[in-house]
Amino acid sequence: MCGTEDSAATPVVAILPGLDLCTDCIRFIDEARDNQLREAKKGEDSGDGKKLKDVPKPKEINDFLNQYVIGQDDAKKYLSVAVYNHYKRIAEMDDPKANRDDEDMDVDIEKSNIVMVGPTGTGKTLLAKSIARLLDVPFTIVDATVLTEAGYVGEDIESLLTRLLQACDYDVERAQRGIVFIDEIDKIARKSDNPSITRDVSGEGVQQGLLKLLEGSVVLVPPQGGRKHPDQKMIPVDTKNILFICGGAFDGIERKIAARLNHRMVGYGQDASKKKHERDNLMKYVLPQDLKSFGLIPEIIGRLPILTSLNPLDREALRRILVEPKNAITRQYKRLFKLDGVELEFTDDALDLIVDKAIEYKLGARGLRSIVETIMVDAMYEVPSNPVEKFIVDAAYADAKLREAHFADTVPAD
Ligand code: ADP
Repeated sequence: MCGTEDSAATPVVAILPGLDLCTDCIRFIDEARDNQLREAKKGEDSGDGKKLKDVPKPKEINDFLNQYVIGQDDAKKYLSVAVYNHYKRIAEMDDPKANRDDEDMDVDIEKSNIVMVGPTGTGKTLLAKSIARLLDVPFTIVDATVLTEAGYVGEDIESLLTRLLQACDYDVERAQRGIVFIDEIDKIARKSDNPSITRDVSGEGVQQGLLKLLEGSVVLVPPQGGRKHPDQKMIPVDTKNILFICGGAFDGIERKIAARLNHRMVGYGQDASKKKHERDNLMKYVLPQDLKSFGLIPEIIGRLPILTSLNPLDREALRRILVEPKNAITRQYKRLFKLDGVELEFTDDALDLIVDKAIEYKLGARGLRSIVETIMVDAMYEVPSNPVEKFIVDAAYADAKLREAHFADTVPAD
């Protein structure tokens, strides 16, 4: 078409009768098409497509979360509201005049970042991941432990946003309205007895850096992450409308909470209330000042105005986690067996035994998977070659398999 002769350097391909294209033209068409698609996508995405009326309501978000996460009703409620409000704020940004009368003109909805406090393995990351399934704003999960102050080994704070940029193909506009889940936020607490002495010992510098992101400012993000590199071209990203959700186990924060509660209860039938608090989960009384006692700087706490807690999972919750969530572990195994034409059943007493073991070895919800895996590995190995119609896992079978595998010996002592 362009007159180029067929050659080894620029081969010409017969596309249709009468239409021959050289590889240069093909590449050119490809690029033009890519650009066109990218432009079209940008148009679609402005406002992330959603008008406020299409956005799931907090109750709908909560219902959605219920399919994946057992219990943790408080955290679900706070997250649902925060995400819904995030959409509202974005809708206002896209169309500042809509739904406003004169009085509202000066009211800017500020974002409310969230911090979730709860023991490890109680569903913080799971909540964040489930939210991500629902959302159509860019979303990413990052780990605060990779951060260190500039000058120490580790990644620069701005690299938290690299993943967000990657999640939306470096579309900065979209990234600027995304949601970032920062896991293990407690690991950057200022602590003299910080267990990791090889890293930044104060944590405070990292917190100061993080503050910049939380407050909303334009930061320079390394496109490939990691440390800043002199010849790397930085991408400016405005964090003003990025919603940050932080999660952390805050090990030992119960002691701070207990100290505060008892302190205030002097003279009010202290003993009875003390017992009650011990029995209940102290975590649910967490207040911003407890985060401060734990070692977060007040400025950070001020930028995380929504504070919610997750409960430790009791026996009943663990039992439900085994079977109820959409992708519950027992459901996954049933599906695997079904692909071999075998019906798999876990008896009630087998499920109870699995929960007992998770509690006995203090493995929590995360342990459920390794227990079930240990029980199932032999069956997974044998059954495909000797298919049966139905395979039943009862307590006796489960117990035998755990014994054979010396499961108790594989559990880390605490
Ligand atoms: P963390 O609170 O440490 O972030 P995770 O969310 O990663 O814990 O939980 C680890 C695993 O345990 C999850 O992938 C999930 O399988 C299970 N799990 C934990 N909590 C729940 C819960 N509330 N509901 C359902 N599954 C849960």
